[in-house]
Amino acid sequence: MATAMFTDCSTSTTAAAARFLPLNRDAVVLHSRRSIPLRFGPINPSLFRTTGTKCHASASPSVLPAAMAAETSAKIIDGKSIAKQIRDEISAEISRMKDNIGVVPGLAVILVGDRKDSATYVRNKKKACESVGINSYEVHLPEDSTEQEVLKHISGFNDDPSVHGILVQLPLPSHMNEQNILNSVCIEKDVDGFHPLNIGRLAMCGREPLFVPCTPKGCIELLHRYGVPIEGKRAVVIGRSNIVGTPAALLLQREDATVSVVHSRTKNPEVITRQADIIISAVGQPNMVRGSWIKPGAVVIDVGINPVEDAKSARGYRLVGDVCHKEACKTASAVTPVPGGVGPMTIAMLLSNTLTSAKRMHNFK
Ligand code: NAP
Repeated sequence: MATAMFTDCSTSTTAAAARFLPLNRDAVVLHSRRSIPLRFGPINPSLFRTTGTKCHASASPSVLPAAMAAETSAKIIDGKSIAKQIRDEISAEISRMKDNIGVVPGLAVILVGDRKDSATYVRNKKKACESVGINSYEVHLPEDSTEQEVLKHISGFNDDPSVHGILVQLPLPSHMNEQNILNSVCIEKDVDGFHPLNIGRLAMCGREPLFVPCTPKGCIELLHRYGVPIEGKRAVVIGRSNIVGTPAALLLQREDATVSVVHSRTKNPEVITRQADIIISAVGQPNMVRGSWIKPGAVVIDVGINPVEDAKSARGYRLVGDVCHKEACKTASAVTPVPGGVGPMTIAMLLSNTLTSAKRMHNFK
């Protein structure tokens, strides 16, 4: 039953699966895939993996014409490879900065409570920092800490010149006011990009946020690095959360796409979604977006990370996206896998934001 649920894109997986794994925005960093050999470069057809056995290395990475896409299987947008490429770029920049001005970027992470998943994400962030040469600082507070204690640590990091980015691991314990806490991170160190001033600037024409939230930034970076045109295209973002859907829609709009946002109250979401040249889905419902929702030739970025039962897996579950991958592969021109698509990009963007912050503070070009 479990395997069938996974392979046939049945939407009935949702309720059963939801209890398997506590999710937050970093869930995918728990899982790794075998590395794909890299050939770097911003528009590089070889970065696409094909979904079938046939290789389409000569195809353009841009959105394929509808007729052509209908005959071919979608290209796989390899977030893991792109994230590795970005980490290598960051690492080189950090060395250059250290050699020139003796500054090493620093990222502080505050973890409250004993959630195993959160502890894993924090550990992975620390590892990612180490791998590129960013100093990481961690404060781990007990579950029953007061909001004041958290605020005190944030204030300390706000004043610490060796810290260029501050991240509060979410979710916080329920007795804490998340808004108060996130608002207390100084905007110059808000590498998560969740401060209302950063989001506000993102929404306003002619204003520049200091940081853009990492997951939506990673989605746009994937489109850029695969040479997917955005200007003038119809884009649909499914989901309107503060951390993914809304900033993704704002970013697409800043790139001159015509953007619609689909949410839980949207009528006929499939009809709206089918108009899109670019789909970004951040819903948290396994396999909700079916092949019939996708215009032939569209590019699909699947942010969702959803556990579904899988008796064949040692863990008893496996992760799938919001998009029925198998069906999408028949209709879309390019699609991100789950895992290995947007997930690795999120952490790469966090490192990138931390480097940007350090460069800005030290006026290092
Ligand atoms: P969220 O805060 O729960 O937001 C979900 C959004 O989806 C809401 O706006 C909700 O609409 C909408 N929605 C729910 N059911 C829907 C339906 N049936 N039809 C249309 N829209 C529906 O979730 P999130 O934090 O944005 O995360 C979304 C997914 O992305 C999750 O699977 C999460 O694990 C994953 N994620 C992955 C990464 C990564 O690095 N890859 C990072 C962050 C999140 P309403 O606003 O109307 O309720």
